Amino acid sequence: MHTGKKTKIVATLGPVSDSPEKIHALIQAGVNIFRFNMKHADIAWHNERILRVQNIADSLGVSIGILIDLQGPEIRIETTNAADISLKKGAHIVFAHEFRGTEPLVRIPQQLVFDVLNTGDEFSIDDGFLEFRVIEKQDNAFVAEALDDCVIKHRKGMNIPGKDIDLPSLIDDDLKKLDMAAKTKVDFVALSFSRTKEDIEILREEMKKRNVNAHVVAKIESQQALDHLDDLIEASDAIMVARGDLGIEVPIEELAYWQKLIITKCRIARKPVITATQMLQSMIDNPRPTRAEATDVANAVFDGTDAVMLSGESASGRFPVKAVSAMARIAKFNEDKTSVPHIRIEQDGTTELVVDAAVAMLEKHQNITIDAVIVFTETGHTARAISSFRPKVPIIAVTDHQKTVETLTLSYGVISVFAEFPSGSFESAEGMLHQLKKSQHIREGQTVLIIHGVHWKQPGLTNSLSIVKVA
Ligand code: PGA
Ligand code: MN
Repeated sequence: MHTGKKTKIVATLGPVSDSPEKIHALIQAGVNIFRFNMKHADIAWHNERILRVQNIADSLGVSIGILIDLQGPEIRIETTNAADISLKKGAHIVFAHEFRGTEPLVRIPQQLVFDVLNTGDEFSIDDGFLEFRVIEKQDNAFVAEALDDCVIKHRKGMNIPGKDIDLPSLIDDDLKKLDMAAKTKVDFVALSFSRTKEDIEILREEMKKRNVNAHVVAKIESQQALDHLDDLIEASDAIMVARGDLGIEVPIEELAYWQKLIITKCRIARKPVITATQMLQSMIDNPRPTRAEATDVANAVFDGTDAVMLSGESASGRFPVKAVSAMARIAKFNEDKTSVPHIRIEQDGTTELVVDAAVAMLEKHQNITIDAVIVFTETGHTARAISSFRPKVPIIAVTDHQKTVETLTLSYGVISVFAEFPSGSFESAEGMLHQLKKSQHIREGQTVLIIHGVHWKQPGLTNSLSIVKVA
């Protein structure tokens, strides 16, 4: 729903938030994109919920993006019979490639892990909370010592900082999820633990084979991804600062630095960026955020993020709707109050020149106030270019591609609207403005900046700028 905020909210859907009433309330509180974490639940669950979200969004007449999050080269452990394993500090436990009957052990599905871990190496499970040291290597197995009292739960993530393991870019299960994505409408496919551009290329190939037409989000959550950051930004359509794992894989004191750097690089590249994980963590149990959390959301806005994300807060917490509305309010107040750091982008084409001129008009306090920017766009490229400057006025992106409507849900300040474009040359936007007035995107008396091309339906040919008073 258009809550007036410009920062987009990505909310992970889960068992506490998947009822039609909750989905409805979450959209009204400010969710722009629902994230389906494919590492949990089965395909049928996700498939059903994706359709549910789409139906509710249609009935509300709003554009909501759908993001599926694939496991990729992330390591997830399994436990014998999916049972919890409780250990005291100093206790020993076997990690193996295969289960051994009913003996309680931890299975690591990726065999390569056993080749790289050596006696004395340390690693962690479950967001870094459970720490272990390898004390004895066996054939496709090892014995590890718990460094504290702990409970190992089935399907938790495993982090081995500093080891580059040559795991495949996608697991078999990811391919099944892509098969589902081909049948359901999905707008974004995120790849956990993206390492290099090859991972992104392999994902794109598999998507192409299945006709999955979606934007690719590289999740930055390891040192290896940071080492290939520029390549990953170039190869993908959007980026996630996946702080949950990144905060384990690199020293925690580096996290804020990387967040700022990644956001700035994404803005320069005109690619949307999501700041994710633990933004309102305490709201899993409490109706109000901590002061530090509220400040974290605000700081992500000051850094210039396109979107902020909720994981456990909206998927399994007690206050999913309150978490979204807290996020929306914090974002709205702070985006109005402050300006993000200025960026310069390469003016490598007419689109960029026109965008630069538009931004200059918005920034210079001239006698005329501009109330909105209207962009006619096919691919969304021009809308993203304007968005990367984080202007103070809404960017209304009008497009005749439904996919563009959906993928622009992630971009800061963009309200995307579907409209049939006439064919032929662009003479006047009068008809379109009339439609936008009817749909209440603009009002009579407002002054709007219109960005368009010579022809209605030609991507990449944006070359004109006009100032129009809405009649
Ligand atoms: P995850 O990714 O929630 O899939 O682990 C996000 C993160 O690590 O921050
Ligand atoms: Mn992660």
